[in-house]
Amino acid sequence: MDAVFTNGNILDVREGRLLAGRTVVVRDGRIAEVGDAGTVPASQRTIDLGGRTLMPGLIDSHVHATQASADFAEMTSWPSSYATVRATGVLRDMLRRGFTTVRDLGGAEAGLARAVREGLIEAPRLMFGGPILAPTGGHVLTRVCDGTTELRRAIREQMAQGAHHIKLTLSGGVVSSMAIDALGFSEEEIRTAVEEAGFGKGYVAGHAYTAEAVNRALRWGVRTIEHGNLIDDESIALFHEHDAYYVPTLAGFHALTESGAAHLSDQSRDKLRDMLDTGLRALERADRAGVRIGYGTDLHGEHHSYQLEEFTLRAKVQKPADILRSATVVGAEIVGLPGEIGEITEGAHADLLVVEGNPLDDISVLTAPDQNLRLIMQGGHVVKNELGFGA
Ligand SMILES: [Zn+2]
Repeated sequence: MDAVFTNGNILDVREGRLLAGRTVVVRDGRIAEVGDAGTVPASQRTIDLGGRTLMPGLIDSHVHATQASADFAEMTSWPSSYATVRATGVLRDMLRRGFTTVRDLGGAEAGLARAVREGLIEAPRLMFGGPILAPTGGHVLTRVCDGTTELRRAIREQMAQGAHHIKLTLSGGVVSSMAIDALGFSEEEIRTAVEEAGFGKGYVAGHAYTAEAVNRALRWGVRTIEHGNLIDDESIALFHEHDAYYVPTLAGFHALTESGAAHLSDQSRDKLRDMLDTGLRALERADRAGVRIGYGTDLHGEHHSYQLEEFTLRAKVQKPADILRSATVVGAEIVGLPGEIGEITEGAHADLLVVEGNPLDDISVLTAPDQNLRLIMQGGHVVKNELGFGA
């Protein structure tokens, strides 16, 4: 037996409620039993939660683990060994904020994922896609692909290395020389990428801002839309029609705005203006329409400290229960592990957090992990424990 949690309020993220006085048994890295008090034998590894909240570990569906600096020009000069060491620090900090799973949207590759899988570094479960694919003139820090042959070659290589998804640049962006409303890749190229990623049992994630870029992507089979600040009513219908996911990234815009965007060009700073407002409006529109929304942050370098701010930002337009679903059960669907992570249910991986307070009443309890996050367990392994084990 790995551990027994007693006397806890279990956060049922699906129903958005707390279940009082429950006991959870963890065995072989998984949740073996969820029951009432008294049904479970005492163990050397019993943790009395004293009425604290026991909740599933968080899932961030849009991170850049390898972008350990917000200064991209400086980062491209790093030797790969140094970049890897910096990425391990970024990942460790994510886990210590309570993120037990992250989906990397550009940069992380097979070697880093293998080191995580083998437990060589302290890190969240890591779903990686390899380099971002962009057409000539597209986004920064990408692998350039023009035409279906180059796309197929790149995607076959990345899928063969174990990529979970393929990210395409489908419009301009804040830190890109392409205009926000410029389109990346043709219909033929996008359909080819979707087909080729599907051959490897992966899917395409699309970086897109405008409704035009989002809607063509959804029509042609892109499964997750990243950012999507300027979606319209047609986008909403297409999300539903194609069972696609929306991953807004408000924290990234917020961090850049707050920090004065020191590393950005004047052109990028212009693009950044209004991004938080349009992002919030898009989130509100998607939320009201019942689109499946993932929790994403899209942070770089020192801005990673804003990773939990996404909760605060979304709370301006969403209920805590809905934000929590984005960061748990919906995230689990996005990374292809529904029922395995993101909820406290028998058979799931024991990715668990113990927090002070009730995040359903006040989501901000999650944003101060130093004070409120008392225990982190990942796959049954204790990462942090301020409560100790009783007898
Ligand atoms: Zn990103």
